[in-house]
Amino acid sequence: MGRALAFGDKIAIVDQNGEHTYRDLLSQSLRLSQEICRALECSSRDLKEERISFLCPNDASYVVAQWASWMSGGIAVPLYKKHPVQELEYVIQDSQSALVIAAEEYVGKIAPSAEKLGVPVLPLLRSHRDGSTSHAAVEEGPLTTCSSWKDRGAMIIYTSGTTGRPKGVLSTHENVQAVTTGLVEKWEWKKEDVILHVLPLHHVHGVINKLLCPLWVGATCIMLPEFSAQMVWNKFLSSEAPRISVFMAVPTIYAKLIEYYDKHFTQLQVQDFVRAFCQQNIRLMVSGSAALPVPVLEKWKSITGHTLLERYGMTEIGMALSNPLHGVRVPGSVGTPLPGVEVRIVTETLKNGGRSYTIHAQGDEHRTQVTPDLEGQEGELLVKGPSVFREYWNRPRETADAFTPDGWFKTGDTAAYKDGVYWIKGRTSVDIIKNGGFKISALEVERHLLAHPHITGIARVSQAESSALSADVAVIGPPDMVWGQRVSAVVQLRKGEMLSVKDLKDWARETMAPYAIPTELIVVEEIPRNQMGKVNKKELLQRFYPA
Ligand code: ATP
Ligand code: MG
Repeated sequence: MGRALAFGDKIAIVDQNGEHTYRDLLSQSLRLSQEICRALECSSRDLKEERISFLCPNDASYVVAQWASWMSGGIAVPLYKKHPVQELEYVIQDSQSALVIAAEEYVGKIAPSAEKLGVPVLPLLRSHRDGSTSHAAVEEGPLTTCSSWKDRGAMIIYTSGTTGRPKGVLSTHENVQAVTTGLVEKWEWKKEDVILHVLPLHHVHGVINKLLCPLWVGATCIMLPEFSAQMVWNKFLSSEAPRISVFMAVPTIYAKLIEYYDKHFTQLQVQDFVRAFCQQNIRLMVSGSAALPVPVLEKWKSITGHTLLERYGMTEIGMALSNPLHGVRVPGSVGTPLPGVEVRIVTETLKNGGRSYTIHAQGDEHRTQVTPDLEGQEGELLVKGPSVFREYWNRPRETADAFTPDGWFKTGDTAAYKDGVYWIKGRTSVDIIKNGGFKISALEVERHLLAHPHITGIARVSQAESSALSADVAVIGPPDMVWGQRVSAVVQLRKGEMLSVKDLKDWARETMAPYAIPTELIVVEEIPRNQMGKVNKKELLQRFYPA
C-alpha cells in the first residue's frame, strides 16, 4: 500500500464507475481510515488489530476498505456479497469484528444483522467512491507506519469450507507481502501489466493473486462486477486500451469460457482471430484453487494458444507451488516451490522412522534434496516459510494441531514428487480412498474418467461442434465393510449420452489399475461446485451414502 504513493496518477483500477488512480485510492482510503477511527473512538489512530469487516462490490471500493482498515491499524475481514446473511453473520461474529464497512448498496442487507450482533455499520457512500473526487493530501506518515507492521495481523480470510466449517485464517502483513512478492517474482509482474479480475474477493486467489500482485507493481486491474463468459471474451478480444495481458481463474471458469467459445465462435476465421489475438496480447493465463482437468488445459491451448499455468495454494499458506513462467508446464502437476517456500512430503516410510525429501526454493535456484527411493511416493505435503499464516483466529487448539513440533504446516493434502515436479493427489481426508491395501487418489481417477467420451472425451475436445466440457466428475469413497472404502464415481454426462457401470468398467480396464476402477456410478444433472470451483465431497457422501 505504501508503494502506491510512488505510482501516483497511474490507473490502478478500472471498474464500472470508471478509472481510479493510485492517488485516488490512497486519498479515499486515508479519509475512510479517519472515519473508522472516529467511529471507534480511537484517537491514537492505531486500532491494534481490531477486526474490520467490509462488504463491498468487486470494484475500487473494496481496495479502499481494505487499505483503510490497514491504515487504521486494523485487520481487514472481507465479506462476500453473495453470501446469505447467516454466513455474513458467522464471519462478523467469529472474527469478533468491531465495525462493518458496507458499500451503499449493501447497507440494507447487512444493517439488521449488524444491529443484532451489536456491531456498528459505517456506510461507504458512492460519492466517496467516485474516481474523480478531489484529493485530500495523502500523508506519508500513516502509510510508512503501517508498512513497518510486519508481525501485525493484516487480514482474516475464511477457508472455503470444503471439509468443514470455514476457519478464519489470520495472516500478518509479512505473510501477505511474502505471497505477493513471491508471485511477482516468479510470474514477472510488471507495471505495464493489465489483469482482468472476475473472482470473488474473499479468498486469497481473488485478494492476493489477482489484486494485491498488480497493485504491488503499479499495474492496472480491470474489475468486472462478477464473472460472465461473454464479458470476459469481450475484454480478451477488445482492441481498446488497456488491453488484458494477464488472466487468472479457477478451472470451472475456464470450462465455462470454453463452452461459450464452442457455442459462439464457430467460424474458422473467428477462431483464427481469437487464437492470434490472445497469443499476441496476453502473456500469462493461470489456473488454481482446484485441480485443473487435463482436457480443459488441452482445449484451452487449442483455442487460445496458451498452456495454462497451474499452481497450488491454500488460505493458510498463500501460494506454495507453481509451474514455471518460462519452461515446461507439466499437465496435471503443480510445478515447484515459489520463492521463499519450503516444502516437504511426509511419507509412510518417514512416519516409520525413514527419510523424506525436501526442496528449498530461493528465487529460481532450487536446492533439491530428494531421497531417490522415495521419488514418486505419496505423503502429506508440509510447508514452511514467511507466507505461512500466524493462527486460526480464536482457535488455539486447531492452530497448534496444524503444525508439526518443528514448525511445518500440515496442509492436509496428499502429494508426490516425481520427474522434478510436484503432483497433488487430493485432500487426505476425502480424496485418498483406502480400498483393500491400496490408496487411491480420487483426483487421479477423476483425471482418467474425464477422458471417457461420454463424460468429456479428450478425443473430442478439439471438435468445435461439441460442447465438450459441459460434463463433470467427482470421485468419492463410501465406507465398505470388506474393503474399507469403495470407489464411487458421481458423473455429469455430456448432453444426450448414457453410461452404465459395466460400460465404464470395460472402458477403464485399458488405462486404469483394477483396484482404482469405480464399482459404482451415480449420474447427476449437475455436480455442485462452489464459486471457487470446489466440490464438497463430504456433502456428496452424505447425500448419496447417508449413514
Ligand atoms: P476448508 O479448509 O475449509 O476445508 P479449502 O481447503 O477448500 O476449505 P482453501 O484454503 O480455499 O479452502 O483451499 C485450499 C485447498 O484447495 C488446498 O488444500 C487444495 O486441496 C486445493 N487446491 C488448491 N489449488 C489446487 C490445485 N492446483 N490442485 C488441486 N487442489 C488444489
Ligand atoms: Mg483447507
